[in-house]
Amino acid sequence: MSLLYHILNAIFPRLCFNCDKIVKKEESFLCAECFAKIPIYSTLFCGLCRARLPENKKICHKNSLYVLGSATKYADPIKKIIWELKYNKKTAAAKPLKMIMETYLNKLQLIELISPIGRISPIVIPLPLHPTKERQRGFNQSKLIAETASAKLNLPLVKNCLLKNKNTLPQMELKNLEQRTKNVVNSFFVKNPELIKGKIIVLVDDIVTSGSTLTEAAKTLKSSGAKKIIAITIAKAE
Ligand SMILES: [Zn+2]
Ligand SMILES: [Zn+2]
Repeated sequence: MSLLYHILNAIFPRLCFNCDKIVKKEESFLCAECFAKIPIYSTLFCGLCRARLPENKKICHKNSLYVLGSATKYADPIKKIIWELKYNKKTAAAKPLKMIMETYLNKLQLIELISPIGRISPIVIPLPLHPTKERQRGFNQSKLIAETASAKLNLPLVKNCLLKNKNTLPQMELKNLEQRTKNVVNSFFVKNPELIKGKIIVLVDDIVTSGSTLTEAAKTLKSSGAKKIIAITIAKAE
């Protein structure tokens, strides 16, 4: 490191986003203490009623279109970090989110769930944004998290298969389930169905609230021949 770097670093130290403590460079954004305080789950959940599935294999509601995996609950500081990433475009905020995803995937025993069917390997698909929204934001946060999931699970990341063709309102702005379901209906489509036919899909998003978006995306994937869907998110609203 150059002398100038050390001087600049001393004048402008990095502060933890959550507690304002000066952090080490490798921590950036969130300090180790604040990170350690985030409770990280160790199970999957029912996609319909959100019941814990302790053995990961247990099925709760058979008609659920997907099994849900969420790393933590949607509460501060995660709530604020996701907001900083998406709406304040602070890409450094992706780092603690990626670390949370890694920690969660380490705790989950997904091996059996994602073992190949015959010779067909499962794939990781990020939940798409409408192209206009992605252009405005400059990135798709789900893609950033999906990169981590793909690397950690050692599964291929398929980015241009599930696409969004309707620029929907943010689900957070809608009050009830009916409005949220209506908002996202027919908003996705599959470009290359041969890429997902007969496959297990790990579908990645940042947050799950009502589940309407994941349900709609799962419906689209299933109608294009996906065999099973495991939807993984950073946070889950209670
Ligand atoms: Zn801190
Ligand atoms: Zn259930």
